[in-house]
Amino acid sequence: MIVHSPLKVVLASRNAGKLREFSELLPEVRFVLWPANAQELPETGAFFQDNALQKAEGARAWWREHGPEAVDGVLADDSGLCVDALWGGPGVLSARFAPDLPDYRDKNRRLLAMVPEGADRSARFVCVLAYVPFHGEPLTASGAVEGSLAFDHRGNGGFGYDPIFIPDGFDQTFGELPSETKHTLSHRARACAALRERLAQGRR
Ligand code: IMP
Repeated sequence: MIVHSPLKVVLASRNAGKLREFSELLPEVRFVLWPANAQELPETGAFFQDNALQKAEGARAWWREHGPEAVDGVLADDSGLCVDALWGGPGVLSARFAPDLPDYRDKNRRLLAMVPEGADRSARFVCVLAYVPFHGEPLTASGAVEGSLAFDHRGNGGFGYDPIFIPDGFDQTFGELPSETKHTLSHRARACAALRERLAQGRR
């Protein structure tokens, strides 16, 4: 029998919502947090995949110079909400939407106000993960969840745009549903499942 020790992985993000979700979705991984003194990771790509790879590779390069402990690799997530009535926006710009409004309750209300009355309210969350081993080639994995926009910010659970997104098959937003439910169907949960599968193939 081959026994593998848990992977020790730097999570290239300071987003508290993502940190919480990754520790719940990948309990077999030991996450090391992106240090407070480390550089901000640029994300200048046009696609989720470009940004995920840019963040993961940028974080690995920084870690090689300054990392305070040995790790197996780096994980980065680029994700966002794509609204059909807004031509796929805010999409890759989700983290940078309405920078004048620090509170997501206000951001969410502004986004909802941009959707024309009577428009199709279909939307999806998309997540692309990039895992770069400390020595090795990058792996990517993605996931998406289809749904629609609520008419107001509803619920205090989750983070970001969760309170305005109703996944297909439910009446409640991700902000109202328990995190256990979000983890059965979310974009991030699906991307994590795909990544786990790819990592397992590499370790067999
Ligand atoms: P980035 O991946 O750092 O560019 O940021 C992604 C942004 O998309 C986050 O800051 C949130 O605003 C939004 N986002 C991504 N995933 C979720 C989610 O699971 N729930 C709510 N908002 C999300």
